[in-house]
Amino acid sequence: MNGNHDEGPVDPVAQEDACPNCGERESDELVWLDDERVECQRCRTVYRPGAHASEDGQTDASSA
Ligand SMILES: [Zn+2]
Repeated sequence: MNGNHDEGPVDPVAQEDACPNCGERESDELVWLDDERVECQRCRTVYRPGAHASEDGQTDASSA
C-alpha cells in the first residue's frame, strides 16, 4: 500500500529556488541560463533563485 502519494518532483530544488510563478521545483524543469538566472521550462519564467543570498541570519524585518 504505497502508491497513494503525491507525484512530487524526482529531484526537487530548494524551496527558495522554486519557480516564483508556478512553483515548479523539479530540477529538470529549471534550467540555469547563467550563474544567477534560471528559466522555468514549465511557464518560461526567468528568475533569480534566492538561495545564494546572505543566509547569515541578517534578517532585519523588525522595524516598523
Ligand atoms: Zn514556472
